[in-house]
Parts: sequence; C-alpha cells; structure tokens
Amino acid sequence: MQTWVQGSSAPSTQHVPALRPQAYRKLAKEYHPDKNPNAGDKFKEISFAYEVLSNPEKRELYDRYGEQGLREGSGGGGGMDDIFSHIFGGGLFGFMGNQSRSRNGRRRGEDMMHPLKVSLEDLYNGKTTKLQLSKNVLCSACNGQGGKSGAVQKCSACRGRGVRIMIRQLAPGMVQQMQSVCSDCNGEGEVINEKDRCKKCEGKKVIKEVKILEVHVDKGMKHGQRITFAGEADQAPGVEPGDIVLLLQEKEHEVFQRDGNDLHMTYKIGLVEALCGFQFTFKHLDARQIVVKYPPGKVIEPGCVRVVRGEGMPQYRNPFEKGDLYIKFDVQFPENNWVSPDKLSELEDLLPSRPEVPNIIGDTEEVELQEFDSTRGSGGGQRREAYNDSSDEESSSHHGPGVQCAHQ
Ligand SMILES: [Zn+2]
Ligand SMILES: [Zn+2]
Repeated sequence: MQTWVQGSSAPSTQHVPALRPQAYRKLAKEYHPDKNPNAGDKFKEISFAYEVLSNPEKRELYDRYGEQGLREGSGGGGGMDDIFSHIFGGGLFGFMGNQSRSRNGRRRGEDMMHPLKVSLEDLYNGKTTKLQLSKNVLCSACNGQGGKSGAVQKCSACRGRGVRIMIRQLAPGMVQQMQSVCSDCNGEGEVINEKDRCKKCEGKKVIKEVKILEVHVDKGMKHGQRITFAGEADQAPGVEPGDIVLLLQEKEHEVFQRDGNDLHMTYKIGLVEALCGFQFTFKHLDARQIVVKYPPGKVIEPGCVRVVRGEGMPQYRNPFEKGDLYIKFDVQFPENNWVSPDKLSELEDLLPSRPEVPNIIGDTEEVELQEFDSTRGSGGGQRREAYNDSSDEESSSHHGPGVQCAHQ
C-alpha cells in the first residue's frame, strides 16, 4: 500500500514541458467542480497528474513504473501525454508500484539464486551432481489460461489492476491517495467462473513441478562462481522465465586452504626432521598419495614455507595447468629436560658453536627469564597486573582501573 499526501500549492511549472500546463489547465477547467459537479474525482485525478508532472521525484517514479503500465494500456510511446489519456480511461493510477501486473508478454521473471556447497575435492576433480527443485510451470491442461478460453474475465471492481485506489480529501486542496489490494480478485486482476475453472491448476495457471537439474561443477571453479541455467526459473503466464543461478560455496577443508589456484597447508615436523631431513606423505585432493622428501643437510627453520610447483588447484577451463602448493612448517621442539645434562654437552659438541660471550665491564644486574604465554593477553593490562603484584600495599590500593593510570 502506498500513501501519498500532496500539497496543493501552485506547482512550479519549470520541470514541465511547455505544453503540459496548457493541457492541464484545459482539463482543469473542464472538470472543475464548479463547472462540472458530476465529474466526481476527475478533478482530483487531474490535480494529481499535474503533481506528478511537476514533481521530479514523482516523475521519476512514474517513469520507472509508468512505462510498464503504459505499454500495457495505450500501447503508446510512454510519453507524458499518456497520463492524461489514462485519466479518461479511468486508469490513471494503474502504473503505481504495479510492475508485477504487466501482461505485455516480454517482461522477464526473477532469477532464482541457490547456494551450492561444494568441497575442495569437488572443485579439484570436477563433479556432476543432480539438483532437485520445485518450480512453477505453466499448467498444460489450460495452457496457462486458468480455465477455458474466455472464462477468464477482467475484474470489474479494480478494472484488472488488482489494486484499488482511494482518494481522500484531507483538507481543502490536500488529497491523500491510498492503494489497497482488490478484495474481489485478491489482487489477481481477473476472475474466473467457478465452473469454467481449470481443474488441474484450480485457475492458478501454473502448477508446481519437480525439476532435476544436472549440475556440472568444472575443475578449478571457485567460491562465488555462478552456474546459470537460462530460463529455468518459475514460469508465469506472459512472462519470460528468469534463470536459475547456482552460487558455488566452497566448504572449508581440513588440510588445505585455497588462494586462487594455489593451495596452502601446514605440516608439523620435529627438531630431528628440521635438522636432519625428512620424508612424509599426504593424501591430495584427488586421493593420490604424495611423498614429500627433504634431503639430510637441508634445514627447515620454524615457520618457514616451502613450495611444491604444480600441486595446487587446476585452472578453470585449463585443468592441466595447476597452481602451486605451499607448505608451512611448524617445528615442534622437545619438552624441557628431554635429555640428561651430560648428553646435552654431547649435543652441544655437534651443534654449531655458541657465539663468544663479550667481556663484561662495570656493574651488572642478573635477571631471570620467565615462561610467558603470549596468547594470554599480551596487552598493557597484563603487564600492569604483574607490576601490581610486586609493588607495595599502598601503591596497589591506589591502583584503580586502567583509565585512571592513563590520565596521570
Ligand atoms: Zn490449468
Ligand atoms: Zn479486482
């Protein structure tokens, strides 16, 4: 429902082509209540039309929704003059918010969007899947007519528009326009005789049908990519059906993260492997067992990344070309006291030698290194707390919320 309140102050004519005010004045004279008391709401309709013409916002609305209405109605070129011809047809307000009522036959229905979840494996290997959906198709028994030919009548209450317009005078020169769904036809714009009504679709013109679509997920397709089935959306009489659009949603993978055509994974190794070389296997997205070798003598630093060329995702439409696989190494160090102290000196003999301790000159102070969990709040609050613990009673009793400190 739309409600507009229009003021009646003499509208500025600057937005309106020269001819319009003349046409308006002519009509206004003809239908002025003083001259023509039987004209009923005509004068108000004309006033309203003039408002539309002279108000850029309303004109834009007219331009947007009006064209549909006009193509349906007079079949004319959609010029502003049509608004006046509609007054005489009693159809002035047919265009308002009425897009869905157009029966011009070339209007396009809405597209139907469905998310389609796919695994990284599916995107790597490609997959054909069947999707079942329920959609409206034109009833075959009545050819989408709703009944026998001629059984469908335009609703007389709303003149086929599905909505009724009421214009109310609020104050002298101020009218309110209200639009409500027609109760005679439930907004359909037409009525069908009970006995002529199509049995199959009960006059609805469409029936639900289960449709199975075969969806080809191609190798290398990406998250957010669309697969379109042209014209497969809901059918409706006089409407060109829209498309069914499947929107690919890549599921998260346990091992791999995808970045374009590249894959990333993290692999945990021990200190021995980091220093002495290693070999490990993992299962790729196409179930191949991949053996990764790193020779003795080459070192893996904690957190470093190594690349395997050509083991990433296949390129879309060029699947023999593949991206790369990046492996980040998480080096696991041994626990505290993992070896006896005398063994440590043996180890030290094997490891690269320590840097020489510089000569200490002057006063020194020895401090202790403590365990610190960086994941447990590394902000100022933590540090302040630590300070608090070691400080004396007085200072800690003064120690209020962090804000207070910040002001000092
Ligand atoms: Zn039918
Ligand atoms: Zn109606």
